[in-house]
Amino acid sequence: MANAFVVPAPTVAVAGSDLRFPVHRIYCVGRNYREHVKEMGGDPAREPPIFFTKPPDAVVPSDTDVPYPPRTSNLHHEIELVVAIGHGGRDIPVSRALEHVFGYAVGNDLTRRDLQTEARTRGAPWDTAKAFDASAPITPIRRADDIGYVAHGRIWLEVNGETRQQADVAEMIWSVPEVIAELSSYFMLVPGDLIFTGTPAGVGPLVAGDHVAGGVDGIGTLQHRMVAA
Ligand code: MN
Repeated sequence: MANAFVVPAPTVAVAGSDLRFPVHRIYCVGRNYREHVKEMGGDPAREPPIFFTKPPDAVVPSDTDVPYPPRTSNLHHEIELVVAIGHGGRDIPVSRALEHVFGYAVGNDLTRRDLQTEARTRGAPWDTAKAFDASAPITPIRRADDIGYVAHGRIWLEVNGETRQQADVAEMIWSVPEVIAELSSYFMLVPGDLIFTGTPAGVGPLVAGDHVAGGVDGIGTLQHRMVAA
């Protein structure tokens, strides 16, 4: 039986290749840098990192305009190291986790901060705060075969040329292998999964017209302009 609709499957470019990485799921880690937990009013000693998700079609390629989303007046940037899974598995041990990594990218976990704050207060889900359309701008994926394990490297974000976020991915509370091990105890990881690994301190608002640039040294630079919807 023919499908009733043809729906384009979301993909992400693979750097230096014509191949596309098909996005299966987007997992995100929250509260994975101590200074960011503090700026959000939390206590990193008492609140371990958490997981949430975005839909696969939230991805937007770098150098593409991003529409300012509706139903918010406080959209925030969150620059993050992104891990692309190439080999699936469940209950993956930390010691084997890097064998499951296809590559790395840089992403912006765009967040309706006003809706997230309201959801936290009400004990409500984060979906409207995190999982909206075009909420996951992302660079092409660099293969781990080419660049190795990204354990260190400056992570940064500028808005209109002014530095807003700057840290090192070595400061993550859960390292990449620990994130993969923990996540795979909840979900069967499969090729095509992306994991946004959390943002450092310095998150802040974006408005229509802003030019956003951010990166992780050794991976690449993400750029996009926020435009009025
Ligand atoms: Mn985030």
